[in-house]
Amino acid sequence: MSSTLYTSISPEKPPLLDAVQKITLALGSLGLLLMLISWAGVSLPSKGILFYSSLGLIFFGVVAYSWRTYMIQPAGIKNNGNFFSSISHRGVMAWISAILITGFYVVLYLKAEYLGLGDTENSGLVAFFDPLSQLMHGKKASQWFVYGVLYTLAIVAFGVKFIFKYRHNRYEIIRTISVMFFQLFFAFLIPEILEMLHPETATNYFGKDMKNMWPLDYDFFDSWHIQNLSKGGLLGSFFLIMGLLMIFVISPILTYKFGKRWYCSFVCGCGGLAETAGDPFRHLSDKSMKAWKIERWMIHTVLLFSFVMTIAIIYGYLGNEPDKYLLSRSTFTWLALIGLLGLSAVYFLLQTKNVEDGSKNSKYIISGVVVLAALILLFNFLAGSGNAYFLQNYGFRQAYGLWVGAVFSGIIGVGFYPIMGSRVWCRFGCPMAALLGIQQKLLSKFRITTNGSQCISCGNCSTYCEMGIDVRAYAQKGQNIVRASCVGCGVCSAVCPRGVLKLENGSSDIFCKTAEHKAIHITEDQVRMLS
Ligand code: SF4
Ligand code: SF4
Repeated sequence: MSSTLYTSISPEKPPLLDAVQKITLALGSLGLLLMLISWAGVSLPSKGILFYSSLGLIFFGVVAYSWRTYMIQPAGIKNNGNFFSSISHRGVMAWISAILITGFYVVLYLKAEYLGLGDTENSGLVAFFDPLSQLMHGKKASQWFVYGVLYTLAIVAFGVKFIFKYRHNRYEIIRTISVMFFQLFFAFLIPEILEMLHPETATNYFGKDMKNMWPLDYDFFDSWHIQNLSKGGLLGSFFLIMGLLMIFVISPILTYKFGKRWYCSFVCGCGGLAETAGDPFRHLSDKSMKAWKIERWMIHTVLLFSFVMTIAIIYGYLGNEPDKYLLSRSTFTWLALIGLLGLSAVYFLLQTKNVEDGSKNSKYIISGVVVLAALILLFNFLAGSGNAYFLQNYGFRQAYGLWVGAVFSGIIGVGFYPIMGSRVWCRFGCPMAALLGIQQKLLSKFRITTNGSQCISCGNCSTYCEMGIDVRAYAQKGQNIVRASCVGCGVCSAVCPRGVLKLENGSSDIFCKTAEHKAIHITEDQVRMLS
């Protein structure tokens, strides 16, 4: 791309790369090539030096290319050529990338030996990462170590690119620094250091990603995990208590105050990758009504599946090993029912208008509570020691781990970025996003306010909403946006040329949040309120 300023929003062709961009792109590609050569099994001299050079070249290539692309132009919206570039508009390059990324995920999850993972010694790509793994915890690398390094590198390098691109917007800079920080420290460095300090037990109970919480972390309530945490001394107890506090106290309070963005756009690694490496694909999200319907069915089905699986697993071990746990099955059942009633009471107390007019939301809430209570009671009476409804508890768990944890979140979720947009997993499959979304819609102060009279209907906001929300439709009506799926990324606001959209807090009352703004229409004969 040359430094020429484009006055048209739709230039005929994507701008050409200049010499600096070509050189930086070549350096980044060289780093990637070194990894591919090692994957192909070519024996490389000075493997350690080549490994660090490869990481350095990729990082430098991405950052220097982005600097040249964005920083020589004035700050502001930078989406030139998006709809004309093969990679960002479902061209040949996009399909090739999607197939390669999907293929990598299939091998990573299902056939790690093809990456070079060995029982005693690694080869290929995994062996290429051995020097760093040896340095960090004195043993050979695993496929998850390779994945962790590449994932962190992608978020940090493309995070810098994102900051250059959206540097006109303080909110975007802060939240990008936040996801880079959480990925680098909470998902990568701290777990690796803990594993180095506690080589025997660390992986058993720290897990590899400390910022994951249930239901995203679907292992949390597994008996092996709870037992390892309770046997893990001070640190184990800390992780157990923090994990429970996050689920039942901290997350509800933060979501009430800030909406689900506190997690989806500031902490989560899946969201972090989508926002940084996935940014060139955000406009590919499907905005149709059909996609919205599919989204609601799919994401809530995954959430239900996740609830059922977790309750089945908890009943399984409370029944199997009642002496090992403080809770008995019946105590757990009572606690769960009281908890459900308590949550419903809090909701209805805070949403008195909904109760009075029996709104749609209240009906959904009441139906949801009844279904969950019935499920809990059925589990209590029907579940055997190792099964639930005649299905093996861990069969549930394994099916969930394979289809939701691996196929959906990894293979489809990231592999399909260049075809379906960057938040496929967050939008259609993440149980955490579903849970936080329900609260965001029903019991949160967060909303996007719109100043409808300023809107010029350019459609930038809808185009670049990665969650497929037709933001413009709300803006044109002057109506606040309160959607369960909104991750509060703020990009709609950042790309709006008229400053129409603001991410704000206010009353948590759903009616107050979603009320359409009225306009006064004055004619010679009458004065009318239009809605
Ligand atoms: S509506 Fe705006 S803040 Fe919400 S997900 Fe879409 S672009 Fe992000
Ligand atoms: S809200 Fe802003 S970005 Fe969206 S259509 Fe209106 S002017 Fe364009």
